[in-house]
Amino acid sequence: MDIAELLRLDREHVWHPCTQQKDHELLPPIPIDRGEGVHLIDFEGKRYIDGVSSWWVNLFGHNHPRLNRALTEQAGRIAHHIFAGFTHEPAVELSRRLCELAPGALNKVFFADNGSAAVEVALKMSFQYWQQTGIPQKTRFVSITEAYHGETLGALSVGGCELYREIYQPILLEGFQVQGPDCFRCAYGLERDSCDAPCFEHMQSLLEREHENIAAVIIEPLIQGAAGMRIYPPVYLKKLRALCDAFAVHYIADEIAVGFGRTGRMFANEHAEVAPDFMCLSKGITGGYLPLSVTLTTDEIYAAFYDDYASMKAFLHSHSYTGNPLACAVAVEVLKIFEEEDILSSLAPKMALLDAQAERFEALPHVGEFRRCGMVAAVEMVGEKKGKVPYPWQERRGLEVYRKALNMGALLRPLGNVVYFMPPLTIAEDELRQLLDIAFAAISEVTAD
Ligand code: PMP
Repeated sequence: MDIAELLRLDREHVWHPCTQQKDHELLPPIPIDRGEGVHLIDFEGKRYIDGVSSWWVNLFGHNHPRLNRALTEQAGRIAHHIFAGFTHEPAVELSRRLCELAPGALNKVFFADNGSAAVEVALKMSFQYWQQTGIPQKTRFVSITEAYHGETLGALSVGGCELYREIYQPILLEGFQVQGPDCFRCAYGLERDSCDAPCFEHMQSLLEREHENIAAVIIEPLIQGAAGMRIYPPVYLKKLRALCDAFAVHYIADEIAVGFGRTGRMFANEHAEVAPDFMCLSKGITGGYLPLSVTLTTDEIYAAFYDDYASMKAFLHSHSYTGNPLACAVAVEVLKIFEEEDILSSLAPKMALLDAQAERFEALPHVGEFRRCGMVAAVEMVGEKKGKVPYPWQERRGLEVYRKALNMGALLRPLGNVVYFMPPLTIAEDELRQLLDIAFAAISEVTAD
């Protein structure tokens, strides 16, 4: 199809995600022809380094031979079949491997097809568990400020990014939101690498007061992604696990963005040496190939649902594409690649390369912080360094960085005033350097005034 015609039809019929469609008048969507390693390639052959792993999903690059093979081999057998009353090897193999890798006693896997759905599953399971174990007043969920757990109404209810949720407030579940860690603008004047997370006091006092009504606390471990890659220390999770144990409250870890090596370990909770009661995974699970998500939980929680049918204790949640064999086959291959290619060990020099950038970026007059956790790094632009005064959002500095970076051959999709890097784990060091140089040039230009 002719590109102009493709764009005309796109404008006519397609409603893109998380987009003010009118922005396309200025900046039309870029039609992508193919992918190769860390690059997206348009129809004119122009390459863009995928600096955000296509919304944090891609792990090993695009058009990966092993993942392609796993996908086509499975397609040659069966693409999809009903998962109630039937099962298949890729789902069983994936479940076995995930339970082996997961921290603690997570030993049961429930399948869905996107991150928000995995969160819904965890919330519903936690709620239903308390209904079926004699403490039915435990109905509320706790989340922290600036949290992001997805866009469906349940997931949005435990979100804290006002940009996405404010208008829907009247139709959301009532829960509790507590002030979470904000290490860049720490209210206690501490450093994230050496503090003992005194900011946990907010969570502590809420649970002390309300635990009888609380089913679960949900959190993004170590990195609050959509909030602007806010990074906080593992000690916060240690305290959370202990508090949840003390008050019989479930800990739901949303590892949808941070799981599968992004933090330098397979799962972010490993940094805190704790295990959640529920762990939601998606995004990287298929290496960025296909929509799939899982909610892991313990045998103990599972047991509260296991009974004669007439007890009406079953978890009657389902999605048509549950346990899709294509997605599961690719996911199994992803885990094999982690193991056979020793992906986690290969990250050290790249993390060091990211760290080495802090000085360069922070020397810019309008960069408040360069922060890193694992293979994720973020540059926070500020209107004024002193006092860390943000740029007014209306100036849309992030969008300007996005435009300039595209011209220079990189996909960086900032979150407000935060430009972040979450490239495929397999990015080569020279590609990573190129990505950082493009970001540096774009940020320098956009903050030059
Ligand atoms: N939780 C977290 C931490 C996420 O980052 C996201 C997606 N950005 C979701 C949940 C929702 O996942 P999905 O977009 O697949 O519904």
